[in-house]
Amino acid sequence: MVYIGIGTGIGSALIINNYLIPSSELGHIIVKLKDCNRCNYGNIGCLETEFSANAIAKKAKKVLGIKNEIAAKDVIFEAIKGEVSAKKIIEESCYYFAIAIYNIYKLLEPDVFILGGGVMASRQFIMKTLRPNLDKINENDSNKINICCTSFGKKIGIIGAAIMCKTLLK
Ligand SMILES: [Zn+2]
Repeated sequence: MVYIGIGTGIGSALIINNYLIPSSELGHIIVKLKDCNRCNYGNIGCLETEFSANAIAKKAKKVLGIKNEIAAKDVIFEAIKGEVSAKKIIEESCYYFAIAIYNIYKLLEPDVFILGGGVMASRQFIMKTLRPNLDKINENDSNKINICCTSFGKKIGIIGAAIMCKTLLK
């Protein structure tokens, strides 16, 4: 199982053979090669600069020419309402997220991807936008990729930390 938390940045964890591995830095895998932004870590074109709350807000500010701060949830809300530029931003962000998901799928073939974090508060819209992008990459494989959203909401991080402690204390 691969968990991906999409909030300000992107966090991830793997569960392989019932063992929790928290160290993966999925947010910094490279998904874009041209016209890239640089992340805080110093990379260019990494997932976090394309699909995270910060990335969505930053793109919206640039594309819509907004000088004030804007939250990713507002951009997503506008996209849900059908605002063309906002929709394009989310569509593009989901495309790069689909590339990341597909690469992980080919590497690990996890039985399921679980998504959480603030951006997934709009889970229906994100899922509806993500799936066609996976289909574009490879429709046959896309049908085999199971993706669902966590039911733990904001508690997911603390629950994961507790499980990690339990694992380490064994
Ligand atoms: Zn990075």
